This record gives sequence, structure tokens and C-alpha cells, in this order.
Amino acid sequence: MAQFKVGILGATGAVGQKFIRLLQNHEWFKIEALGASERSAGKSYKQAANWIESIPMPEDVSGIEVRNCTASEFGDVDFVFSGLDSSVATEVEADFAKAGIPVISNAKNYRTDPTVPLLVPEVNPDHISMIDKQTFTEDGSGWIVTNPNCVAVPLVMSLKPLYDNFGIKSVILTSMQAISGAGYPGVPSLDILGNVVPFIGGEEPKIAAEPLKLLGRLNDGVLQHADFPIQATATRVPVLNGHMLSIAVQLEKEADAEEVKKALKEWKSPIGDLKLPSAPNFPLNVFDDDFYPQPRLHADSQKGMQTAIGRVRNSNVLSISYIAMAHNTIRGAAGGAILNAELLVKKNYIK
Ligand code: NAP
Repeated sequence: MAQFKVGILGATGAVGQKFIRLLQNHEWFKIEALGASERSAGKSYKQAANWIESIPMPEDVSGIEVRNCTASEFGDVDFVFSGLDSSVATEVEADFAKAGIPVISNAKNYRTDPTVPLLVPEVNPDHISMIDKQTFTEDGSGWIVTNPNCVAVPLVMSLKPLYDNFGIKSVILTSMQAISGAGYPGVPSLDILGNVVPFIGGEEPKIAAEPLKLLGRLNDGVLQHADFPIQATATRVPVLNGHMLSIAVQLEKEADAEEVKKALKEWKSPIGDLKLPSAPNFPLNVFDDDFYPQPRLHADSQKGMQTAIGRVRNSNVLSISYIAMAHNTIRGAAGGAILNAELLVKKNYIK
């Protein structure tokens, strides 16, 4: 497999740093260029970034000069990952796509666009074909693919086997979200230490909408979203990494906890045979121990790419309830985007 040259937009931020860390020694992708705001452009990466990863800054990136996020400065890359602030992602990502540089984005800006795939490779790999409807370039060389909100990822990973086996009527959930989800410097320490904040601005509408697009079915190239209500309460908790969700589901076809557990345990990933470097061998881990999963113990499982599920039990209000948890900046952000890129290589969209 040839190595592709990649750029990272928003390289100095929390997600950008996670891209840099996860792309060290990647078999297929080599970091060629880093971009950030004009505050950082022109500086070496070491001068521009306030490094927050728990490994030393890789030497091969520390001396790279940070560029402005304009497509004309990225002519030497095959595609870019975007960890851009949403205040600028609309214009910047379109600028790259129009210049024929594919964009694999973490930002929310294009997630609801009807021609842009919102992709979780284990859930909706067929949605990639939506790229063919994009009109950024005449020859189709420039396009945008997004990955979902970091809560939507463990939510949809756990809902997919239930949706396929039993159908879903409604979902109610409360998320307990780690502070790393707010970027850097993020939530003030005086707000979060020894505390729980019962609201995260802008989060609940995304959690309610994105799983319906992810579970949607393509009919003649047109995506029909899944149709059931999701009520989400998003809270911030004093946890470093790993978003945990308490979920209750009303199924269409009634099933008890044992049947639901069996469906979750027997679920097979549709990309299991593709040998994608970042794909976890076991994308779902269903615990029987009532004390699991826990963010500190399990967020890093399978290199942070696994969704952990536990406490699957019958509910006397809706059909069943359970806990789901995944690493928010890996599975829910940079790692998910890298897995998307690997699938896009396999499917010949990146070439
Ligand atoms: P962050 O730490 O605040 O980083 C933002 C990045 O955007 C920085 O590199 C910053 O560069 C750059 N930027 C800001 N203004 C810019 C401009 N005018 N032109 C070019 N670059 C600009 O945020 P984050 O947590 O990494 O999140 C990045 C994106 O990913 C956001 O859209 C967020 O919603 C999404 N996301 C985050 C998570 C998570 O868990 N953190 C999960 C999923 C999705 P400077 O350093 O030069 O200012």
C-alpha cells in the first residue's frame, strides 16, 4: 500500500493533537502539512501548539512550520483531516473541497448536508456513495466526509444491532461527558472539579439528529433517515476521557434483556474483513459485570476504538436500558476520522 500524504487542519487544537499522535507510524498515512489560525501560521508547530497529549510531541512534527488553512498552501497533500473550530470550518472545508482536496472532518458544519456522508464505518459504510452527488469539483476530486458528534458514536454503535434486530420506537438518554470533549482550555476547573454541570450548549440537538442520519437507508441515492424520537440530556462530569451514556430504548418488537444482549454480542461488523489498520478487532464489548464499563478502565480498550456496553437490563418504563461508553477524542473524533479515511482508501475514493 502506497503512503498517502496528509494535512491536518486545526492541528494545534485538542483533536488536531490527537490526529498527530494517532498518525505516528500509521501504515498508510504520513503527515505532510499542518494548518491552524493566523495566530499560529508561520510558527514552528512546537511554538504554536500547547501540547496536551500524554506522550512527548513527536520530533518529526515539532519543527514543521504551521500554515494558514487555505487550500493554495496545501497543494502537496492527497487529502486533509479537519479538526477545525466550527466557526471557520464551513468556509475553510469548502475551499479545500473546491480545490480538489478531499476533507475528512470532525466539525459539525457539514454533518446534516444531504450530500455529505456522516460516517461510522461499522454502521453505514454504504453511505460513502453519497460523495458521488457532491458538486465541489466537476471531476469529483474534491469532497467532504464527516464523522458524528462524540456522543452519537457510542449511541449509534449500540443502537445499530437493536435497530436491525428489533426496530426502535424511541430512545431516552443522559450523557456523562468527559472534559476533554470541550477542547483546550475547555471547561474552567472551578466549574467542573467535584461537580456535575447539567447542560452542554448545542449538544442535545446533535445527539437527537445524527443517529437518525447514520441509521438511514439509501434509496436510489437518496438517504431516508430513520424515524424515531431521541430525547437527550447532555451533562459534563469530572472525567478526563470517555463519554458514558445511560440509555433506555422502546423497541418495536418486544425483546428482553437476554435477547438484546445476545443481539449485541452476536453483531458482526460489516467492515470486519477489510483489514483497516485502525478498525478494532472487537468494536463492541458487552460486559456482564454490573460495575463495568468505566471510563478510566475501559476508554482506551482496543486503542480507544471500542464501544463498551454494560448493565443491559429489562426496564419497566421502556423496553430495556443499558450503559454505553467510548473514548470521545479517539473513537468520537480523530480515531473515527482516521478509520473513515482508511475505508475511503479501500473503496478507492482516496487514490
Ligand atoms: P480546539 O482545541 O479549540 O482547536 C481548534 C483548532 O481550530 C485550533 O487548531 C485552532 O488554531 C483552529 N482555528 C481556530 N480558528 C481558526 C481560524 N480562523 N482559521 C484556522 N484555524 C482556526 O477544539 P477541538 O476540541 O480540537 O475541536 C475541533 C473540532 O472538532 C471542533 O469543530 C469540535 O466541535 C470537533 N470535535 C471535538 C471533539 C472533542 O472531543 N474535543 C469531538 C468531536 C468533534 P489556533 O491554535 O491557531 O487557534
